Amino acid sequence: EAKRDPGTSYRFYDRQLHITAGHQLRLEADLRNALRGKELELYYQPRIDLATEEVRGVECLLRWNHPERGLVSPEEFIPVAERSGLIVPIGYWVIEQACKRLQESAELGFPGLVFAVNLSFRQFHDRKMTETIFRIIFNANIDTSLLELELTESAMMHDPEYAQRCLRELNQLGISFALDDFGTGFSSLSNLQHLPISLVKIDKSFVQELGHSADAEHIIRAIISLAHSLQISVVAEGVETEGQLEFLRQQHCDEIQGYYYAHPMPWQDLVHFLTNRGQAACLQR
Ligand code: C2E
Ligand code: MG
Ligand code: MG
Ligand code: MG
Repeated sequence: EAKRDPGTSYRFYDRQLHITAGHQLRLEADLRNALRGKELELYYQPRIDLATEEVRGVECLLRWNHPERGLVSPEEFIPVAERSGLIVPIGYWVIEQACKRLQESAELGFPGLVFAVNLSFRQFHDRKMTETIFRIIFNANIDTSLLELELTESAMMHDPEYAQRCLRELNQLGISFALDDFGTGFSSLSNLQHLPISLVKIDKSFVQELGHSADAEHIIRAIISLAHSLQISVVAEGVETEGQLEFLRQQHCDEIQGYYYAHPMPWQDLVHFLTNRGQAACLQR
């Protein structure tokens, strides 16, 4: 920004840039170690089907247990991993780990649980992506129809022909796709209709505006109705209150994910959660 606007205070910006770059480099080096040394972990957040009230699936969310800094948020290290390219090996580790848990969940008596994994822009554009994912699932002995990849609109729309080819190839293996953080580029949902997308996730910023903004209600209604007309299911993310839940239920939103129902949790906690609540976990009406 400062480069484009030389009128602003240079020295200040320089210092900021220096600190940021230093911070970035340290994080990058630490992250490299993290991948080698088992500091990365997946947390799992349940996704609830509003019609059946069952846990349909879980979103796998990356956590970094930093030896000095404690639990580092993905909001902080994913951008670093993305810029440095480390997201590519990290992302494959995530898919591998998710596949292991998927296999384990079937063995534990939770068949049919969908495992959703986030794919970053850079990872999606890795030349070896389809081939690597193919190898991972081939080695994993899983029901591939239970693996779902979450992509953002920008990752899909950057090179639509590439996206179409990759999604179709992976979809032929059974993998399904969700459009993550949906809402801002709303008008282009219809442009995506030729892609094999089975699910749209409404961004939590809209859900959290419910009750405060009539616009958010209109947008959510419109997304649900357009998605349904295209045979696409809808998950609302970031559901924290009963009011939000009720609104979404009235709008025939298919699934919800959010703190109201469950936070992201370590694997063992998820196993207890599913065992204790049973598949017919009750939502208050
Ligand atoms: P996302 O894919 O949109 O994931 C949903 C985020 O919303 C998660 O944040 C989740 O913890 C949070 N969340 C869920 N329910 C609620 C709620 O009720 N209220 C609020 N305030 N937040 C809620 P998290 O785990 O911090 O992850 C942030 C982002 O980092 C993710 O957003 C995703 O874009 C990225 N990310 C996480 N894991 C991975 C990964 O394995 N690979 C890649 N490429 N990106 C990842
Ligand atoms: Mg996601
Ligand atoms: Mg999301
Ligand atoms: Mg998000």
